[in-house]
Amino acid sequence: MKIEILGAHNSETDKARLPCLLVDDVIALDAGGLTASLSLQRQHQITSVLLTHHHFDHTRDLVTLGSNDTQPPSTVDVYGLPETLEVVYKYLLDGKMYKDYTHWPKVEAPRLLLKPLEPYRHIVIAGCVIIPVPVNHSVPSVGFHVTSRSGRTFFYTGDTGSGLSGCWENISPEVLFIEITGLNSMGDAMRGLGHLTPDLLVEELKQFQKLKGYLPRVIAAHVSTLWEDKLRVELTEAGQKLGKELEVGYEGLTIEL
Ligand SMILES: [Zn+2]
Ligand SMILES: [Zn+2]
Repeated sequence: MKIEILGAHNSETDKARLPCLLVDDVIALDAGGLTASLSLQRQHQITSVLLTHHHFDHTRDLVTLGSNDTQPPSTVDVYGLPETLEVVYKYLLDGKMYKDYTHWPKVEAPRLLLKPLEPYRHIVIAGCVIIPVPVNHSVPSVGFHVTSRSGRTFFYTGDTGSGLSGCWENISPEVLFIEITGLNSMGDAMRGLGHLTPDLLVEELKQFQKLKGYLPRVIAAHVSTLWEDKLRVELTEAGQKLGKELEVGYEGLTIEL
């Protein structure tokens, strides 16, 4: 299984893109920095987009993916919780701002086909078994536990705050892509917003180790460009507390599992 980070930040600049992972060239997890990262040919390979939640930084490239249609026309399946799909349709895809790609070019064969997910109920795409597992954010959100044909595993949290022991009980990933948004000094604010800091991550990973008996490879994403340098320092210190290197994800990082 090949996992590429297309977007590893929660802010967009010439060097940073919004959250998106690409699995085996065909499955996108979130659609932040999706189309800007891929040639048209690679965009046309995508069969499915799975959304962790409705926030704009995770969904906005659905519009450009819809717009960059194929010849002959093809359909991309867009999966999310019903609450997620409802907001994404109402505010992004309903046809007021641009075309309604869930009905275009044909109602019976649209560019984007919305498909609801149920927490803990797995789906299979391109041989990968994907389980949506609820996480703690400010709006209904899931992370995705992905198992390849050969049994290799990773988990992508999307956006999440503290209190993940319920999530940990349901997953056993080799690699954990997890958000880190704020600095340690912003702990209270981040807790309120449903995000993590390095110190909050340490607590969550201690829980993981206690429950599962190991720590996965950890790759931080959703990093703010405003304080990335400081976050890197705090993540290094957090890793020392755990006796485990905590990596910082970046656009273009590719992992073969
Ligand atoms: Zn969010
Ligand atoms: Zn976000």
